[in-house]
This record gives sequence, structure tokens and C-alpha cells, in this order.
Amino acid sequence: MTDIVIIGAGTAGLTAAIYALRAGKSALILEQETFGGQIALSPNVENYPGIKAISGSELATALLSQAMDLGAEVELGRATEIRDNGTTKTVVTEDGVYECGAVIIATGARHRHLGVEREEELTGAGVSYCAICDGAFFKGKRTAVVGGGSTAVQDALHLSAYCSEVVLIHRRAEFRAEPRELEKLRGRMNIRILTDAVVTGLTGTPFLTGLELRNVLTGETAQLPVDGLFIAVGQVPDNEAYRQVVRLDDTGYIIADESCETGTPGIYAAGDCRTKTVRQLTTAAADGSIAATAACRWLG
Ligand code: NAP
Repeated sequence: MTDIVIIGAGTAGLTAAIYALRAGKSALILEQETFGGQIALSPNVENYPGIKAISGSELATALLSQAMDLGAEVELGRATEIRDNGTTKTVVTEDGVYECGAVIIATGARHRHLGVEREEELTGAGVSYCAICDGAFFKGKRTAVVGGGSTAVQDALHLSAYCSEVVLIHRRAEFRAEPRELEKLRGRMNIRILTDAVVTGLTGTPFLTGLELRNVLTGETAQLPVDGLFIAVGQVPDNEAYRQVVRLDDTGYIIADESCETGTPGIYAAGDCRTKTVRQLTTAAADGSIAATAACRWLG
């Protein structure tokens, strides 16, 4: 039996593993998709204390190898259920059943969809949620990015290195991204910023060839020919499968405070998957250490 099963190998989950292992506990990390979580897809991280600049994948790799060097076991799999048996817990995946003493849920969040017609159909045929993964397919082409946060701005900057033109479409005039990031954006000749605009439709069969746009202030509509659309409109949590053992708020985040305690003894929530005001690498790392320390205390 493993001491702690950690669901999610993002910053919170990997930090939890490092703290648990250094405290002498065994830790198994289950990851359904990308080791390193969201940060692995971030082209450039410039706000992690002590590191001026690092690529997200480099940081993710360093975190993963630090946890593995300490003895973390890592398995690919989606945790579909957690059972609370009192002093022990059971985590069920599509391929296995894991008995443990404590569980740390660090599932982060997944990409929010725009909600326009044909979005699913054209995903992989011009529509993408990952500029780092798919940007190179659009060399010399015109692409658009939707969103006004750090991800959208960093995606636009990343794509501008490959694409003939990048159109950044945001539904308001103010951006959530840091002013420093916006400054960089304005310095790129092949990036055009379109504010107060929303994407209302996608055209092209079988590949995306254009967008239908609407100006939210004037109601005016327009067509924008593009070969690629990168959707970067934030994240949504993915915790429904754990509803039996933790409480979720109206938007699906696990209700837990700075202690990372969920209300079920021995089950903790760390990082972006829990209710919190600031979802950053630093707060994810902080949660990982807090949740692991609490889990070690629970295990005794
Ligand atoms: P975000 O900050 O939540 O921004 C999402 C953006 O999408 C917002 O501008 C929002 O518009 C827009 N949006 C949401 N739903 C939309 C819809 N249906 N149609 C059109 N636009 C929509 O998400 P994020 O950029 O992915 O960032 C998430 C967190 O990660 C943030 O805390 C960010 O700072 C952090 N992050 C950090 C780094 C790093 O390098 N350290 C990199 C990336 C992200 P409104 O502004 O109008 O709401």
C-alpha cells in the first residue's frame, strides 16, 4: 500500500510528492495527460521567484525529475473514483485500483471551450488549445488567438515567430495579462490586436479557413480568413468524479481553504483545482507543500 496517492502531476502534485518523499512517505503520482500540467505548455515563465526566465517545459521536467529522483512512482491514468474507507482510501483508475493512506487531489483545470458551433469538429483541423504543441504546423500562415489573459498573449508571441500574421482577438479593451507582456506584444510587427470582438462562427471544411466575428460595442460583423485558431480563454476544473468524497462549489472547484483540507480526513486538494483567489505557479507550489505536510501528519 502506498502512503499517499497524488492525482495530477502539475506543479501542485509534483511539489506535494517532493515534500511527502522528503518526509519519508511513499508517493504514487497519477497523471492522465501531461507531466508538468499547464505550465509544461507555457512558452516562457518569468514570474517564478528566483528564476528570471525559464521555459515551462524545462521547469516541468526539472520538477518531475526532482520528484522521481526522490523515489516518486509515476503512472499514466485517469482517476475515476476515490473511495473513503476511513483510515485508508482507494483510488480507482481505468486500469487499476490503488490502496493508500491519504489522497492529494491536484488535478488543476482543463481548457475552457469557446462554445461556438463546430468547435469540436474543427479541433485538430485548424482549431487548437495549445500553441506550443501545434504552432509549428502554421509556419507562414495567418492565425488568430482568442483571449485576454497571459496564456493568450504568450501564445500570440510564440506564434508570431512562425506565422505571417497573428490576430489577437479579445472581447474587451482591457487585458488580464501583465503590462510587461502586452508591451512585448505591441513590439511585434506581425501581431494585430482586435479588441471588443468575439468569435461567433467558424468556417471551412474539412479544415478551418476563417472566422466570423462580431464587434460587441457596435454589433458589426466581419469575416477573418485564418488557417489556425488558438483558443486561450482560461480553464475550468475537472473534479466531478470526486464529488462523493469532496464538496464542490457552483463552478466545480473543490471547496478547501489555505489548509488544503477538504472536510474528509485524509483527502486534500492542492493547486488550481480548489477554491482560491490566485491561481499561479507559486500558489500551486505552496499548496503542494501544505497538502503533503497535512497528509504526512494524518498518516502519523
Ligand atoms: P485567464 O487569466 O482566466 O484569462 C482568460 C481570458 O479569456 C480572459 O481575458 C477572458 O476574458 C477570456 N475569456 C473567457 N471566456 C471567454 C469566452 N467565452 N469568449 C471570449 N473570451 C473569453 O486564463 P489564462 O490566460 O489561461 O491564465 C490562467 C492563469 O494562469 C492566470 O492566473 C495567469 O496569470 C496564469 N498564467 C501564468 C503564466 C506564466 O507564465 N506564469 C502563463 C500563462 C498563464 P475577460 O478578461 O473579459 O474575462
